[in-house]
Amino acid sequence: MKFLETRGNDGQHPEKVSFSEAILSPISSFGGIYSPESLPNLGESFLEAHIKSNYKTLAAAVLTAFDIDIDANIIEKALALYDEFDDSSNPVPVVKVKDDLFVSELWHGPTRAFKDMALQPFGTVLSSIAQDRDEHYLILAATSGDTGPAALETFKNKANVQVACMYPDGGTSDVQRLQMVTEDADNLKVIGVKGDFDDTQNALKKLLGSKKFKDTLKEKNILLSAANSVNFGRIIFQTIYHIHSYLELVRQNAIQSGEKVYLNVPSGNFGNALGGYYAMKMGLPVEKILIASNNNNILTKLINTGAYDLRNSSVIATTSPAMDILKSSNIERIFFDLFGKDRTKDLMAQLDNDKHYQLDESELKQIQAIFSADFCNDDEGKKYIKEAFSNGYLMDPHTATCFKVYDTCRDKKLSTIIYSTAEWTKFSPVIANALTGEVDTHDLDALKSISKEAGIEIPAIINGLFDKKITQSTIIEKDEIESEILSFL
Ligand SMILES: *Cc1c(COP(=O)(O)O)cnc(C)c1O
Repeated sequence: MKFLETRGNDGQHPEKVSFSEAILSPISSFGGIYSPESLPNLGESFLEAHIKSNYKTLAAAVLTAFDIDIDANIIEKALALYDEFDDSSNPVPVVKVKDDLFVSELWHGPTRAFKDMALQPFGTVLSSIAQDRDEHYLILAATSGDTGPAALETFKNKANVQVACMYPDGGTSDVQRLQMVTEDADNLKVIGVKGDFDDTQNALKKLLGSKKFKDTLKEKNILLSAANSVNFGRIIFQTIYHIHSYLELVRQNAIQSGEKVYLNVPSGNFGNALGGYYAMKMGLPVEKILIASNNNNILTKLINTGAYDLRNSSVIATTSPAMDILKSSNIERIFFDLFGKDRTKDLMAQLDNDKHYQLDESELKQIQAIFSADFCNDDEGKKYIKEAFSNGYLMDPHTATCFKVYDTCRDKKLSTIIYSTAEWTKFSPVIANALTGEVDTHDLDALKSISKEAGIEIPAIINGLFDKKITQSTIIEKDEIESEILSFL
């Protein structure tokens, strides 16, 4: 399978690339990204054939259907990382919460958030391609909390790859920061930046676009790449769990094979939802994909009105910070798939130049045939956390946004799969506040309190962080980032 540029070709980039090329250089002409030329059709016989498959067997079959240029033994090695999740026989448990509402838990990996689903196998794949080509890569990451730990974890001690990960000092939770600053592999550098997430993100974009920086790296024989969520190498692994979750409902006799379901996704950069969209296009029986946002409700507005408007808007800090995003990068791939490259280029240029675009009526109809959307503010989120807890289900604030959407966006009484993107341990002060009203400034106090309320232990992997040695203590001003990275190399 080949990958095409979402904004067409500028004569400087290749028009079509292989999967491994799309992974190594994810940005295409005119600032576009790569999208699959066509999608495999899996259909009902594929689902029937995999009713009894375990996660890895299903994953290997989906990747084979995509026909990517990665050796089978590398894929096998990458997928073996799912064996290290909590339950080696099933990395993604699907739990019935009530009636027709099921939660697919995507956080049973090493860093306790959904980013592991894609980044765990992605690290092995990227390092293997780099070794095959005898190339060395610097991976840059800027994180507001979950991507950083997951990227460090997947690349630690991997051959031919070094990682520089920037986070806003004081802008992450204790657990997220400790997950990063206690990593001690030689090929990892963690940099606290005095500033907010936008400062680190802007620094990253500047370096990725800087010819001078790239030339300096070239002298050291190092190429530059990024592990952000527009990389198709991450998206491909995010189609699999949607198919798996559907099959789990069949296995649990909640639905008959072929019956339609709702997928309900807490969304920011839209990578998780895009994986659901591809699964649907590949033949998964999905009625609609329900998109949940927080007060940064730009996706709700897009899907309900066709308008994407960044004028006079700035990011609002919420209790679901992984969704505090206004520029949702993967929407572009939906537009490319539905409206083609010319219209996508036109829409993205309008966004860059005017900070605004408006879909026409027929385009909006096409979007609304697939997606419905609503948003959930912090107070509503807390209410849903408390209510679910009193019914025996403990969840994080990102997952909670979906519960509102479950209440407001369904036209039919069909089984619904909510995707849970983080364990309670990662956003504990918000959850403790929802459950007891307490206000904690330290994660450890909140963790202890929830543990007591719920009668569950703090997982050892999280508890252990508070005693681990801090190995990454660099904290710098934002204009020192480039020189800090160069001295690490
Ligand atoms: C990254 C993340 C999201 C948003 O996922 P997208 O694929 O960017 O839409 C939601 N919840 C958590 C906890 C995350 O880490």
